Amino acid sequence: MTLKSFFEGARDGRLTAVRCTACGGLAIPPKEFCPACGKRGWQAAPLSGSGTIASYTVIRVAPRKFAPEAPYALAQVRLAEGVSILGRIVDVPLDRLAIGLAVKFHPLVRGDQTGIAFGPA
Ligand SMILES: [Zn+2]
Repeated sequence: MTLKSFFEGARDGRLTAVRCTACGGLAIPPKEFCPACGKRGWQAAPLSGSGTIASYTVIRVAPRKFAPEAPYALAQVRLAEGVSILGRIVDVPLDRLAIGLAVKFHPLVRGDQTGIAFGPA
């Protein structure tokens, strides 16, 4: 699985990790080499898209292209399968954000770009 197919799947609402065929480690987004064992052999591992917020930051001063959307939250989400990914939090009021809050994957599609986001579970 490539980054391109990862984002194409995400656009359709499917979050997919890769599983190392040598050590069984999961990685998301797909990487060239396994962070755990250094091998390069992967198979696609579809994820449920459910997870919890492991940490988050509220962005009040955003890069110019996202400035109209600030403030917004970025969170490290620990997925049910045990891997974590950084994503935007959408449809959750900033004052309701909390470590451990259950969230669900939600593609953030803008034109031909797809971002990773999570909304209420
Ligand atoms: Zn490995």
